[in-house]
Amino acid sequence: MFDWIIVGAGFTGATLAERIASVRNERVLVVDRRNHIAGNAHDATNEAGIIVHKYGPHIFHTNSQPIWDYLQRFGQWRPYFHEILAVIDGKEVPIPFNLNTVEAVFPPDLARRYTRLLLERYAFGERVPILKMMNETDPDLKTLAAFIYEKMFRNYTFKQWGLYPEQLSPSVTARVPVVISRDNRYFQDRYQAMPAEGYTALFERMLDHPNITVMLNTGHVDVRHKYPSARTIFTGPIDEFFGYRLGPLPYRSLRFVERTLDVETAQAAASINFPSDHDYTRITEFKYLTGQRSARTTLVYEYPQPHVTGENEPYYPIPRDETQILLNRYLELAEDRKDVIFCGRLGEYKYYNMDQAIGAALAVFSKRIMGETDVL
Ligand code: FAD
Ligand code: UDP
Repeated sequence: MFDWIIVGAGFTGATLAERIASVRNERVLVVDRRNHIAGNAHDATNEAGIIVHKYGPHIFHTNSQPIWDYLQRFGQWRPYFHEILAVIDGKEVPIPFNLNTVEAVFPPDLARRYTRLLLERYAFGERVPILKMMNETDPDLKTLAAFIYEKMFRNYTFKQWGLYPEQLSPSVTARVPVVISRDNRYFQDRYQAMPAEGYTALFERMLDHPNITVMLNTGHVDVRHKYPSARTIFTGPIDEFFGYRLGPLPYRSLRFVERTLDVETAQAAASINFPSDHDYTRITEFKYLTGQRSARTTLVYEYPQPHVTGENEPYYPIPRDETQILLNRYLELAEDRKDVIFCGRLGEYKYYNMDQAIGAALAVFSKRIMGETDVL
């Protein structure tokens, strides 16, 4: 018998399973309908012997000390600073757009003028969302912002979401702000690292507890009536839980295409973004992320797709006012289900990074399961 059923073996489900099993000494059944643990962070070795993340590149980064400390229990981490180059007018330049990008893109005189302008207007190190910079009144800054918007954001965003930046929550493009420094790293968080033995091995440790049973290839529907006294934690899509009774929430999906080459290194950075060309948004070379050495290398191309329920994966919730209205109605239904806790990127329909999913799960554990008021 089980005290808890946790639906989903991703970061949200695994964190809650681990906390409930270790701290409360209660029995947990974790089910996942996929044939593996680790959710979208799952990694595995392909036929060429190269480690890849099956659901796209996953780089861990956080500013949260408690989340970082929590993860140290499950294995070693290797410091890793992700860098991306974006192809603008046929040239590979650093993204986030920063002072180095200004120099890479513009002739020296203009670059000097723009650099001076940016340093006069903003604090050094400031992170300026492109949609905010577009509202500047200075005509030169406005021209620069329009250039960055046009070359880096407009078409990439349309490819990725089927929507333009202003049709989405401003938080989406604010994830990759213009950075007023010479820092080429994609993330500026205090902790940036990769699990030394990979994500799947990390999850094996998180779930390795006598109180935890994991069942793979098992959907919520397969177990939901079997353990009537167990409480449920649901980390799958919230609209699916309610049988889509208010209509489906929109998601964005991806198709991944893997290509292995007989060369040691194929590209100049871990990921190359293609804001304007091709149907794919980015190509990632996984050896940069994992630090693996091999005479061969694997590239993964990401092709954004509309999500079709049952046909492809709902990778991204779509943050915009229109979806929030329907989400709020599902959240009201969730309120009435006191026997179920909804959490995670799909359970809450929030564009969470891994650290945010873990943070939210730790907060649910402290607040809703332990009844504590003092959370992260
Ligand atoms: P998930 O990992 O999605 O896990 C949910 C699990 O529930 C899945 O395994 C699913 O099979 C299972 N499930 C769903 N419904 C059911 C059901 N009815 N029955 C049984 N099982 C079910 N974050 C970062 O911090 N850094 C990155 O670089 C990064 N890159 C990303 C790249 C891509 C392409 C994507 C899509 C995401 C990326 N993320 C990244 C975000 C990261 O994947 C999420 O934050 C994290 O996976 C959320 O964990 P979760 O447990 O909430 O959800
Ligand atoms: N973005 C863009 N051009 C880029 C990179 C990002 O327009 O070269 C925008 C786009 O809207 C994207 C968002 O910024 O969806 C967030 O990018 P991020 O790399 O964080 O997306 P993820 O890794 O979650 O797919």
